[in-house]
Amino acid sequence: MTLIVQKYGGTSVGTVERIELVADKVFAAQKQGHQIVVVVSAMSGETNRLMALANDIQGEFAHGRELDVLLSTGEQVTIALLSMALQKRGCAAISSTGAQLNILTDNKHNKARIQNIDADRLKRLLDAGNVVVVAGFQGVDDEGNITTLGRGGSDTTAVALAAAAKADECQIYTDVDGVYTTDPRIEPNARRLNRITFEEMLEMASLGSKVLQIRAVEFAGKYDVPLRVLSSFEEGPGTLITYEEDSMEDPFISAIAFNRDEAQLTIKGVPDQPGVAAQILSPISAENIEVDMIVQNVGSDGNTDFTFTVHRNDHNKALKVLENTVKKLGGGQIGGDPNIVKLSIVGVGMRSHAGIASRMFTALADEKINIKMISTSEIKISVVIEEKYLELGVRTLHEVFELDKAKAERNQAASA
Ligand code: ADP
Ligand code: ASP
Ligand code: MG
Repeated sequence: MTLIVQKYGGTSVGTVERIELVADKVFAAQKQGHQIVVVVSAMSGETNRLMALANDIQGEFAHGRELDVLLSTGEQVTIALLSMALQKRGCAAISSTGAQLNILTDNKHNKARIQNIDADRLKRLLDAGNVVVVAGFQGVDDEGNITTLGRGGSDTTAVALAAAAKADECQIYTDVDGVYTTDPRIEPNARRLNRITFEEMLEMASLGSKVLQIRAVEFAGKYDVPLRVLSSFEEGPGTLITYEEDSMEDPFISAIAFNRDEAQLTIKGVPDQPGVAAQILSPISAENIEVDMIVQNVGSDGNTDFTFTVHRNDHNKALKVLENTVKKLGGGQIGGDPNIVKLSIVGVGMRSHAGIASRMFTALADEKINIKMISTSEIKISVVIEEKYLELGVRTLHEVFELDKAKAERNQAASA
C-alpha cells in the first residue's frame, strides 16, 4: 500500500472550520487506499502568541528549555482537534506528539536537529488502520526534554517522517499553490514553477524564502524523498522538488529570494594585518551569533574596513561585542544598520552563463538602488540593499529576468 505524508501549515489549520476542511481532505486520501501520516503546525498566530508571552517574562528574545515546553503546546492543540474531526467522520485517527513518536533530536533547544526516528511505532499505528496525526516542529532529546526545530520546523518533521517510514511522497500543503518565482505576496506577476531542483530550493530556503524550511529540503535531498508543495485550498499539481535535468541548464535564473531578518555591522579603520578578521569575528561567534555575509575592503594607509551581516535579533548584541573588540584592536569606528535586506537571484542556469551579475547590477542601478554588499556562489548572487527598496528591487529583477514568462518562452525570445 502507498504511504503518503501530508503536512498542513498554520494558515491551513488556522480555524476550526479549516481543520474540518483538512479532515475532509485527509479522509478522502485515506479512502483512495493510501496510508496517511498527517503532520500539523500550530494554528496560525499561535507560535507568535506563545513567543510573545515568553518574551514578556524573559526579556526581548526568550530562549531555552522552557520556551520549547511552551511552544510545543501549539502543535499539540492542533493534533487533538484534527484527530477529533477525523474520528467524527468515522475515520480511525490517533494523535501523537513528537516524543510519543520517538522523534529523537540533539539537545539544542529552539533549533534542535532530528537525529533519529524509530518508525516502528508509526508503522504499527498505520497498520492498525489509523491516520496518524503528528505534532510538527517538535522532538525529544535523549534525556527526555522536549525540543523544537526552529521556525517553520513542521516541514522538517514531515520530510523526516517520510524518510524514516519510506513514504511514497511527502506533500506540503500551504496557503500558496506551489513554489513561485518569488514570493507572490510581493510580486503579483510571480509564476508557479512546476518543478524546481533541490539545489535551487536549498538556496532559496537559505536565502530567506520561507515556503520550505531549509532542513526539510536538505533531508529530502539526502534521503531521496519525493517532495511536493501544494495548496490546502485548491486542487492543482503544485511544485515538485526534483533532481536537475539537462533542460534546466537554460541561461536563466529560476527565482528571486529575499531576507528581511538581517542587519549590517561595520567596523572602520582597523589595522590591516594578519589575523584581524579572526580578531573581529571570533568574539562574535563566541557569543553564539551567526555571521552571514562578510566583506573586507582593500586596505589603504595600513587600515581597512570590515563589514558583515547577522540576524536582526542579534544586531544589538553584536554591536556590544564590537565595542569591546575595538578597545583591544585600537582605532576603529563602529556602525550598525538594522534596516537592510538581502536580495538574491537563484538558478542552476547561472553556472554556465556570464553576464547575469552585470544585468542584475545594472537593473538595480537604473532604479537608483544602491548596493551595499555583494556575495556570489555558483548558482546565486546576493546583494544587500536598504530595506525601503526591497519591493522595488524584487519587482525590477523579476521583470528584467522575465520571470513572469515560462522558460520555453524565454528561450525562444533569447534565440530569436
Ligand atoms: P505554512 O504556515 O503553511 O508553513 P509559510 O508561511 O511558512 O506557510 O510559507 C508559505 C508562504 O511562503 C507563502 O504564503 C508566501 O508568502 C511565502 N513565500 C516566500 N517565497 C515564496 C516562493 N518563492 N513561493 C511561494 N511562496 C513563497
Ligand atoms: N509552529 C511553528 C512556527 O510557526 C512551526 C511551523 O509552523 O512549521 O514556526
Ligand atoms: Mg512554514
